[in-house]
Amino acid sequence: MPGGGFVMEKMFFRKGAGAHAGIRCDAHVHTAFSTDSDASVKDMLEAALKKGMDAVCITDHLDLDFPYYEDLGDGAFTFDVEEYVRTLDGLRKEYAGRLAVRTGIEFGLQPHLAETYRGLLKEHPFDFVIGSVHLVKGRDPYYREAFGKTGDKELYRAAFEETLENVKATDAFDVLGHVDYVVRYGKGQAREYSYLEYADILDEILRTVVGKGKGIEINTAGIRYGLQFFNPHPDILRRFRELGGEIVTVGSDAHKPEDVAGEFGRAAGVLSGCGFRYYAEFEAGKPIFKKLG
Ligand SMILES: [Zn+2]
Ligand SMILES: [Zn+2]
Repeated sequence: MPGGGFVMEKMFFRKGAGAHAGIRCDAHVHTAFSTDSDASVKDMLEAALKKGMDAVCITDHLDLDFPYYEDLGDGAFTFDVEEYVRTLDGLRKEYAGRLAVRTGIEFGLQPHLAETYRGLLKEHPFDFVIGSVHLVKGRDPYYREAFGKTGDKELYRAAFEETLENVKATDAFDVLGHVDYVVRYGKGQAREYSYLEYADILDEILRTVVGKGKGIEINTAGIRYGLQFFNPHPDILRRFRELGGEIVTVGSDAHKPEDVAGEFGRAAGVLSGCGFRYYAEFEAGKPIFKKLG
């Protein structure tokens, strides 16, 4: 088991449990504080209530030193953290008793930013921090043309190497976000992708995460991007469990209200199938384990 301070809670099914199969916290949600979302925080919270959530963690994008892309303009994926914390504090009070509103953040990891992010966490102790690798060699694979003739295999390996470098460089995260996210942007997506192809480096990433007492997430957006699986692939989740991993949060990575808590029923099945009996949610930087239905 990773570090102390765990709280165990029993799950009880309530009405409407079928859609989310007992997972009642969406731990990865974006709002208009993120450059790539127009959704108001309130619309996302209302959507979470409608989907039967009892907690939501807002995790807007902070990707310092993000490269310049014309369609994004200057200062992409940065925002006023003070205003963000203030806004979410207000909503936490407003929704008290109906929905637990938590203040998280998704850091775009780059090895040279490790100290800066650590400093930010000292200033703002967020409920939950997702550390995500969105860049490969300083470029965003979403803009795949920037990688020229680089094939999928080469791109995926470079992304995993970068991920390993990042998880070694920093402790400024609670869970590593969408581990095999880069596969969404492959020309053939999962055609040349399997856990086994990259087992050497993926195992090292997972061992590092476990060794630091951190977790990973199951990110249900993979399906929205045309994959047949959530990120990461179930083989990685299973391997994480085998290597002693305990902490897995569940997040939709929604940027629009209709995607909040998307596919949570299936996510519960995937987690159980990979050997997990609990999913985790975070409050005040500590994991709370909840039994899967
Ligand atoms: Zn992300
Ligand atoms: Zn995200």
